[in-house]
Amino acid sequence: MEFYSNLMMDEEFEKDLISRFVKYAKIHTTSQPEIEKIPSTHRQFELAYLLAEELKTMGITNVKVNEKCAVLATLESNIENENVPCVCFNSHLDTAADESGKNVNPQIIDYHGGDIHLNNELVIKEQEIPELKSLKDSKIITTDGTTLLGADDKAGIAEIMTAISVLKKNKEIKHGKIKILFTPDEEIEKGADSISIDEIGADFGFTIDGGEIGSLEIENFNAASGKIFIKGNYAHEGYAYGKMINSLRYIPYILDLFPKSEAPETSKDYDGYYHPYEIKGNVSLTEIDFILRDFDEPKLKEKIQAMQTGISKIQKQCPEVDLSINIKRSYKNMKAILDKHPTIIKIAKEAIEKSGANLKITPVRGGTDGARFSWRGLPTPNIFTGGYNFHTKLEFASVTGMKQATLTILNIIKLTVEEYIKKN
Ligand SMILES: [Zn+2]
Repeated sequence: MEFYSNLMMDEEFEKDLISRFVKYAKIHTTSQPEIEKIPSTHRQFELAYLLAEELKTMGITNVKVNEKCAVLATLESNIENENVPCVCFNSHLDTAADESGKNVNPQIIDYHGGDIHLNNELVIKEQEIPELKSLKDSKIITTDGTTLLGADDKAGIAEIMTAISVLKKNKEIKHGKIKILFTPDEEIEKGADSISIDEIGADFGFTIDGGEIGSLEIENFNAASGKIFIKGNYAHEGYAYGKMINSLRYIPYILDLFPKSEAPETSKDYDGYYHPYEIKGNVSLTEIDFILRDFDEPKLKEKIQAMQTGISKIQKQCPEVDLSINIKRSYKNMKAILDKHPTIIKIAKEAIEKSGANLKITPVRGGTDGARFSWRGLPTPNIFTGGYNFHTKLEFASVTGMKQATLTILNIIKLTVEEYIKKN
């Protein structure tokens, strides 16, 4: 703990961070899957405009909310050196649709160990969350048990906003040009489509969208999603003999294509998986939605191939029904890109360590906007927010973790200046 260790003890700093978080968490910004347009829900603009106003109040003049609801602001450099790169910090406005994000009512509690009872039914169990032990005798923010909390990713937003506010209040802190970016629809994998890399105009970036305190994420899944269509033939039940082809009857054959030993519930760490997650159907048409994930690109391609071959085989065995499959690639593992930028990773690691958190490099068993940004030309690893149990009513955030994430942002800014001035 070096540069900013005094901030950890600063009551104003903590108050600012918590009050920002609570304010943002209360705004309903759930995104909606299967809506094509960005933003998927108009309500995300409410938080976008609020953040834009707050940035202007801090004295940042270059603030824009684009038509897709992305907020972009620039904090100009206060040093003469032109070699210092422009760093972007990004969090997302939306919360996941898995649980309600309406009327979120954050509870700030002084945690002294043990289970946390949210209400009569819901309990955050110390046994299930080993990190809780290390959070004994500190402040935690939970839900009231009726909604998710939205620390994913409003903790990230609060941390970026608080870091910028520290810089604005302490003009003697030297920094390069900084871009502040809040994107909509990350939870439905469209955040990075809300703004172009040229528009962002940074040299590299960080998403502040991870969970566990101290985590740095520099690799993520390669991903594909798909849909299988089973077209049958409806006929009046009373006169269906020899005419009806019931698409529902083919579901078991299709489900056999998804190995049970390679499912989300049977895989962890660096394992990939096959996952059917929704079936809609009637006699004439059944649709099965699925996703495929793997850290290794060739292995993901094998999974895609296995699905296509499997469907062709079933089609041959059951010529009476009409089967088709569509598979789309979504995000890719950012590791291939980030490996080419060791300085960024070095800065991130050092920034986390200097915040007082224990650095943990973990693979993301999902995707991040940063993975998409990385592949489009803006290398963007993911930094922790201090939130846990994302997308559930048991979600909570550690105030200590949130403070350390804010310090990490400030440390990145400071280390970037030092690193590039030293280099030139
Ligand atoms: Zn997130």
